[in-house]
Amino acid sequence: MNKTTKKKKLLKELPDMMKGSITLTGRSCGKASCKRCREGGKHPVYLFAFQTDGKKNIVSIPAKFHGKVEELVGNWHCHKVLIENVTKLNVELIKEGLFEE
Ligand SMILES: [Zn+2]
Repeated sequence: MNKTTKKKKLLKELPDMMKGSITLTGRSCGKASCKRCREGGKHPVYLFAFQTDGKKNIVSIPAKFHGKVEELVGNWHCHKVLIENVTKLNVELIKEGLFEE
């Protein structure tokens, strides 16, 4: 397989992903009827911190999506290796004069 074909194959492997970090925190729900909050307890809340256009953002993630978000954040870490591999291939293609304009 030549390098250009190898590169295209790598780019096709790009998964769905999210770049950021997840933290678990606790929050009160504010409902007067909530026994847990009345007793000083908290409800678990997942927060997703990420950057867009150089700005930091934080959003809460509904519990039902937490697993999927963990998965997509994990994909970003794999993706870093993939980007490095594609960069390496592109540099080799430039050196060999086979880089496509
Ligand atoms: Zn509550």
